[in-house]
Amino acid sequence: MTFGSTRGMSKGYSFSDAVLRGIAPDGGLFIPDEFHVYDSFELSELSTLDYKSLACEIFKHYATDFTAEEIRACVDKAYTGLDVKLTSVNGYLNVLELWHGPTAAFKDMALQILPEFMSVALKKSNRHDKIAILTATSGDTGSAALKGFKDVDNIKLMVFYPVNGVSQMQKRQMVTQEGSNLNVVAVEGNFDDAQTGVKNIFANYEFSQKMAERGYSLSSANSINIGRLLPQVVYYFYAYFLMCKKGAVTFGSKINFAVPTGNFGNILACYYAKKCGLPVNRIICATNDNNVVSEFMTTGTYNANRKFMETISPAMDILISSNLERLLYDMTGEDSALVADLMISLKNQGVYSADKKTMNNINAHFWSSYATQEDCIRTIKSVYERYGYLIDPHTSVGFDVYDKYVISTGDTTKTVTVSTASPFKFNKTVSDSIFGENDTASMNEFEILEYLSAKTGNPIPWPLKDLDKKTVLHKKVCKKSDMIKEVDEFCSK
Ligand SMILES: *Cc1c(COP(=O)(O)O)cnc(C)c1O
Repeated sequence: MTFGSTRGMSKGYSFSDAVLRGIAPDGGLFIPDEFHVYDSFELSELSTLDYKSLACEIFKHYATDFTAEEIRACVDKAYTGLDVKLTSVNGYLNVLELWHGPTAAFKDMALQILPEFMSVALKKSNRHDKIAILTATSGDTGSAALKGFKDVDNIKLMVFYPVNGVSQMQKRQMVTQEGSNLNVVAVEGNFDDAQTGVKNIFANYEFSQKMAERGYSLSSANSINIGRLLPQVVYYFYAYFLMCKKGAVTFGSKINFAVPTGNFGNILACYYAKKCGLPVNRIICATNDNNVVSEFMTTGTYNANRKFMETISPAMDILISSNLERLLYDMTGEDSALVADLMISLKNQGVYSADKKTMNNINAHFWSSYATQEDCIRTIKSVYERYGYLIDPHTSVGFDVYDKYVISTGDTTKTVTVSTASPFKFNKTVSDSIFGENDTASMNEFEILEYLSAKTGNPIPWPLKDLDKKTVLHKKVCKKSDMIKEVDEFCSK
């Protein structure tokens, strides 16, 4: 099995190469040359496996340059202490909770295992000795990456966050993180400043030469990495089998998934699961006010020339939804020249339009709409009042758009809505949506955590407990222009 690029010019990379490079040399995204399609007999065999064994079975078709023992070791390290739960809110609302990991958000599902993949890949590579991972974060990615990369051999991780752009909770999770190979620095400015700073470092040829002399390749851990995407396919299979086990659906009949979407990684994994033979009917793509993707799915035009909105579901605030490129590759009939054209148009004009055939293909699998912030707040409140179930503002986007789907189509197919963060991680928004703003006006996020728990009777997830009592290890604040100096210094040791 080798991996090639969505843009067609780069071909023949091993899984290790693809994981270490992150992005293909032609600027496209890595995709496997073929997908293993399961027949119903194989599916029923898969359905008997626990999460770890299921993951191994799926990975073995793609990580073909890893031995079975290496795959098993990666999985064992990554998925110990990580859980996936399917909760039934009433007869027909099923929620896949992907936030029972070390940072209480779904990015753990992929960022717990990516470092393990990278570590094995490094041993196989003659191109790379050591890796320095640079990440700019608006919150969730940073803390999940820190947990995942902690103490991984031969890899250093440097996280930059905007000094005033992350929540107290997220900041605490990052600056208290132990690990000798980790560094966290605040950047004066907003998320864009931090991100541009990182991009500038990647683009600095002289600096990457200097790092190469020390044995370091620069890399990133963002969600376009194929090593982050594949692990997400696993939980769609797992969710389907759980639905069968509890009798919500008979084995072999189709279900829908509703997925809160930002960079299109999570939902693309759902489509890949369908492509591999999982009985999936519609994939409901839920976006927030930054509704570029849902607009594209309904009109055929992707237009990033608009105002960036800062919403209460910040992990979905995005104008360039990178993984959509992989879907376009499939939906254009693997027309890599066309994909390259569309992506160049996006880069230069901020806009592209897909042809009718492509859009018909997309609409055969997907349905999409968006939730405004008011929709979101109303949904958090009504779900709690009706069912006593707490959802975070990202999951709320999924709930609201699923409602819109049912109203619009009348489809009664059993549906699983994907829940991407613990409600306690976004406790102020959740508390204010349900109980009003007055109650929490004078509280900090740690006090609201306790308040929300006491008021609703739900326990605080362990990763968020006592965060305010942990020692702050990373106190540095730097100017955007000094980010490169910070990386230089951190990787000199
Ligand atoms: C990252 C994230 C999303 C968006 O997932 P994509 O794979 O980027 O579409 C949704 N919710 C939460 C809580 C996230 O952290």
